[in-house]
Amino acid sequence: MGKALFWTGVFFVVIFITRLLAVHAAKKRQPPPQAPSQANAPVTDSEAMVRCAHCGVHLPRSEASLIEQNTWCTPAHAKLGARPQD
Ligand SMILES: [Zn+2]
Repeated sequence: MGKALFWTGVFFVVIFITRLLAVHAAKKRQPPPQAPSQANAPVTDSEAMVRCAHCGVHLPRSEASLIEQNTWCTPAHAKLGARPQD
């Protein structure tokens, strides 16, 4: 009876150590959650987003119309004018 208990214990200890080693190896293989290249990427790589003063939609600066110190998604919204935002 004692021998069976002993070998059962050995079996579970081996399983436990194997699991620990597997988790350790998996952690080593995975890249860090936040890639350094993305974290340190210069802001100039992405285009600045601007907000339409009428409808509030966000769009790239190059696609927006800049009229009277406001940005607009379309000339039609520039004509309608700024809408108060809440
Ligand atoms: Zn708009």
